[in-house]
Amino acid sequence: MNHLWARLSLAFALVIALGILAVALLINRATDTAFRVYVRDTLRAALPRVTEELAEYYRTHGTWAGIGQFINQRRRQHPSAPRLVLTDANGRIIVGAGRLRPGQRLPPALRPLRVPIRVDEEVVGYAVFLPPGTVGPRLPALEQAFLTTVRNMLWTAVLVVLLGAVLLSVATARYVTAPLRQVATAARRLARREFHHRVPEKGPAEVVAVARAFNEMATALERSENAQRQLLADIAHELRTPLTVIQANLQAMLDGVYPINGREVARLYDEVRLLHRLVEDLRDLALADMGRLPLHRQTVDLRAFIHHIVDTFHLAAAAQDIRVHLHTPPHPVHITGDPDRLGQIMHNVLNNALRHTPPGGEITVRVREDRSSGWVRVEITDTGPGIPPEHLPHVFDRFWRGDPARTREAGGTGLGLAIVRSLVEAHGGQVGVTSTPGRGSTFWFTLPCCPNGHHDEQRAPH
Ligand code: ADP
Repeated sequence: MNHLWARLSLAFALVIALGILAVALLINRATDTAFRVYVRDTLRAALPRVTEELAEYYRTHGTWAGIGQFINQRRRQHPSAPRLVLTDANGRIIVGAGRLRPGQRLPPALRPLRVPIRVDEEVVGYAVFLPPGTVGPRLPALEQAFLTTVRNMLWTAVLVVLLGAVLLSVATARYVTAPLRQVATAARRLARREFHHRVPEKGPAEVVAVARAFNEMATALERSENAQRQLLADIAHELRTPLTVIQANLQAMLDGVYPINGREVARLYDEVRLLHRLVEDLRDLALADMGRLPLHRQTVDLRAFIHHIVDTFHLAAAAQDIRVHLHTPPHPVHITGDPDRLGQIMHNVLNNALRHTPPGGEITVRVREDRSSGWVRVEITDTGPGIPPEHLPHVFDRFWRGDPARTREAGGTGLGLAIVRSLVEAHGGQVGVTSTPGRGSTFWFTLPCCPNGHHDEQRAPH
């Protein structure tokens, strides 16, 4: 009884059974009453004929003596005729029936039923036809048999319908709960990591909604599982490359192929540093994913902060013949953030811009503050080659690189922008990029700012 289908079946069957029983009882009662009335009326119709016979008896005999025998004989001839009670002119019973014994007076309740028997205009007695049920509950035998047949048929019909109702209830309940069983089976398969399994989306609207929600969840899980596998493969690949270089170089030194000198060791040191950065970046991303990236928040004047970063960046840009412009509001822009992490965001985006801008190009940094909405927006625009539209949705993905053939030496780890997105989001902001291939790209991020701002983090301005 712990199964939903069993409970549903029971509930359906109970409701149907109660309904059928109520209807059956009503029909039974109505048939009984209507039939008794019908029998009584039919018998009454025969009354004048009988009173005529009784009057004839009295006229012939001049007395009621021996009438009992006459009536009994008549009863034997007509077994289904109504019970007759005969009284004298004073209402004293001469021929009784059931509890009405000769010598008693006719009970007042039966008086309206009596029919006078007249001989030469004089009332010589009364005949009373007892309606069915007055003397006993039973109807005359034939009529009683008819009523019993009707009753039996009625109860047989009730039983058949009840049985049908129970079978139908069980079938309906099993049908209604079938999708639930399918979802349960699918959930178990999902638990066994069979992520491709789906449930059919058919049936009533609610069932379709559950199946659809389940399938969406399975799809999301499958995607996440694939992404995780891909990530693990990417991590292994990224770690293996510098490790292989280090191992090969060390082996070459040990074998005497390379001399063990400062320059070779410095090269190896660069590889180890890259490896270290990769591991640090991965750790940051993992912590950000878990929402546990430690942020040492403090009030920062973003305007002064960016001025300082761009100042230190000028030198590297000038070395590549790239000019850097900075536009900031004329007043301080206070935000709450971790200066180290904010520096990391700016460095990653600025280094990308520097890497992709050809000599003679320009990099423009803009800080725009919107006090009314409570957001500050930082834009870094370069005059590099830009990013094709089909690449734009991927630039913030982990290990995604515009040019897969590009080696680590020529670029970063493919984690730079992923880190930027995680750090900006950890500060409650958003990131994005717009680009015109051939003309350059603009990477932007927003951060909550300004004490009077009304933040709605879901709707940061783009
Ligand atoms: P990495 O720079 O280490 O490859 P990033 O996550 O920093 O990884 O960047 C991902 C990709 O986005 C880059 O490989 C590059 O194709 C593209 N990209 C990033 N910044 C720029 C830019 N300023 N101009 C053009 N493409 C860019």
